[in-house]
Amino acid sequence: MTKPMPTPVHWDRGFWNLAAQGILSAQRCQDCNHLQHYPRPACGKCLSPSRLWEHLSGLATVYSFTVVRRPFTPGFDDQSPFVLLDVLLDEGLRLLSRLKDESQAEGLGIGDRLRVSFQQIENGLHLPYFTKVNA
Ligand SMILES: [Zn+2]
Repeated sequence: MTKPMPTPVHWDRGFWNLAAQGILSAQRCQDCNHLQHYPRPACGKCLSPSRLWEHLSGLATVYSFTVVRRPFTPGFDDQSPFVLLDVLLDEGLRLLSRLKDESQAEGLGIGDRLRVSFQQIENGLHLPYFTKVNA
C-alpha cells in the first residue's frame, strides 16, 4: 500500500520550495504581522491575502508525542512503531512531525529540545523531521 503524499497548491508552494533548501518557514501576514503555520491562502487572523515566507529557526521543544504502533493510514505499516511528535517551535507555532532517528524514542520526554532537518519523500518533496539535541 502506498502512503498518501502532500500535493502542493499555490498558497503552500513557498513552504515546499524552502523545505527543499533545508529551511523551515511560515507565513507572515504583511497587514497584521500574524505568523501562521500551516500555510493558508489568507491570513487566519485578518483574512489579508498579503503574506510573505519567513525563515524559522528550526529549533523547538517536544510539546507532546505518542508512539504509533498501529497506523490508521495504510502505507505506514512498514515504519511502525514510530514517534508522532507534537512540536512547539521556538517562534510559538506548533506542527506535527516525526523523529528523524527512531533510536531517539527511548527516553524522549516533553520539553526535550529539537532541531529540524528535512528528508526527501517519494514524490520529491522534503518533509520536516526533528532530531533531539542537547539543551
Ligand atoms: Zn493578518
